[in-house]
Amino acid sequence: MPVTILIVEDELAIADSIAYALRTDGFVPRHVSLGAQALQAMRDADPATLPALVVLDVGLPDMNGFEVCRQLRQFCNAPVIFLTARSDEIDRIVGLEIGADDYVTKPFSPRELVARIRVVLRRLAPPAASIAPGAAAPAARFEIREAEARILYRARALELTRYEYLLLKALCERPGHVLSRAQLMDRVWADAPDTLDRTVDAHIKSLRAKLRLVDADDDPIQTHRGMGYSLAGT
Ligand code: CA
Repeated sequence: MPVTILIVEDELAIADSIAYALRTDGFVPRHVSLGAQALQAMRDADPATLPALVVLDVGLPDMNGFEVCRQLRQFCNAPVIFLTARSDEIDRIVGLEIGADDYVTKPFSPRELVARIRVVLRRLAPPAASIAPGAAAPAARFEIREAEARILYRARALELTRYEYLLLKALCERPGHVLSRAQLMDRVWADAPDTLDRTVDAHIKSLRAKLRLVDADDDPIQTHRGMGYSLAGT
């Protein structure tokens, strides 16, 4: 499956050279020029094309890259590589631990950046499940890593938004139990009292799409018409 990389950079020449190097290396580049566009792109992305990594310029016209990263971290775990113009910015990145995975100082070689992207993606990739053909599937499909706010599905880390994470966690905590939309709204959207039934349904839909990316033949979330949802017993 092609891997999408989001480039957030207001200098078109730099963005173009990164996009070219990415394409040459088999990635699908996506480019935006503003921090707000980057946040929106990550929030609205279809699960199938959700960028796997963000290349983020620190000096953007509307907000600085650190702030973009801070806001991104509130709903997204995708790795971030900063592009910095000045070496003194590096001290801030290293010192502030704002959730960046690497940084590159301008001017840089786009091919070097792509090599760094590969390293970060490899480092974060969960180990491939080593199941022999015909062998029984592992007993537990889901593993909740609460400290990391992550859920592993068939030993692969899911890239979930905050509400998707909370929703799947709520279902995982009571496998086999039917949870109504009202119950899910109470647990997952406690901070958003105006949530509608269809918000729950929309998040179930995006969650299912992400689970299908891991295992196209499995649909562990069951719909109970007029009642709610349950997770198939693990
Ligand atoms: Ca810039």
